[in-house]
Amino acid sequence: MKIAIVGVGAMGSRFALMLKHSGNEVTLIDGWQPNVEAIKAHGLQADFNGKHVQSKMPIYALDEVDQLQDYQPDLIIAFTKSNQLDEAFQKAQSLISPQTYVLCLLNGMGHEEILKKYVSEEHLILGITMWTAGLAGPGQATLFGNGNVELQNFAAVDKDFAVEVEQVFAAAGLNPKYSDNVSYSIWRKACVNGTLNTLCSILDCNIGELGQTKESEALLKTIIAEFAAVAAHEGIDLDQAEVFEHVAETFTADIADHYPSMYQDLIKNHRNTEIDFINGAVWRRGQEYGIATPYCALITQLIHAKEQLLNK
Ligand code: NAD
Repeated sequence: MKIAIVGVGAMGSRFALMLKHSGNEVTLIDGWQPNVEAIKAHGLQADFNGKHVQSKMPIYALDEVDQLQDYQPDLIIAFTKSNQLDEAFQKAQSLISPQTYVLCLLNGMGHEEILKKYVSEEHLILGITMWTAGLAGPGQATLFGNGNVELQNFAAVDKDFAVEVEQVFAAAGLNPKYSDNVSYSIWRKACVNGTLNTLCSILDCNIGELGQTKESEALLKTIIAEFAAVAAHEGIDLDQAEVFEHVAETFTADIADHYPSMYQDLIKNHRNTEIDFINGAVWRRGQEYGIATPYCALITQLIHAKEQLLNK
């Protein structure tokens, strides 16, 4: 399959390497210039489960997309951060022909509203992934562990192409599954990001330390209840007790000593966050539906304030 990856950070690198190694034609597009230059010079490099891998792939900066006039990918996988998605697709939109499909596996909610500006609803596939990835520097990914992908057509259209993607991902070892209810999974995963990522960033602690505070249970339950109230308005019946257990089990799991990705982005690297697509999306939709979400509102404002303080 001819696949373009827009956003070649940690996750874009993982999917690029796995899909290239299983025989697909992969083209990379990225907006971070040092990353583009490093990959042009050395190919994509990774520590892949302890083994060094290096793979040459065509890479273009977002500002160079006009050089790709005769290139028509079958599939574009979006792997920017949520807050970079609109600008990236504005610049990459010339790659999207009426035949092209776009798959979005970003964390958070509301990406379809952005992508619908650039691709028809019928050619939009949404999903989540439990794969993880990190970046050691430009063009250098750190890829450990296992994961899977859940995907579903956004619109009620035939699933032939999505099933083809599922087969291509299966051949790449990405453990995909066509889902009947990906919206539920997106909301459930957003609850993890909306609690662990945000609270560890605000409290400057790792996951295990958050779990040791007396307040963690009430904080998690209240935030999850706000997510559930807004999801219910959209016809999604989140099982709050199960979601709480799912989040709380990380407090004593192998990842307890991890600092979540929002922490790494904001506190370590002073980058802006995906908050507007997580708690911010719940707050915004709550306002629209007349549902109070005071914890999500406060968390969104605190994270934005921290972004400003660190980005001075
Ligand atoms: P990332 O930050 O590594 O990469 C996203 C974009 O930011 C890329 O274009 C990259 O080149 C650029 N970038 C990376 N570091 C930068 C820096 N220091 N300065 C400027 N630009 C930089 O993001 P990711 O971890 O690949 O995540 C992509 C999406 O997938 C997000 O929605 C994320 O929430 C989701 N996700 C991530 C993981 C994970 O383990 N990393 C797991 C599941 C889902």
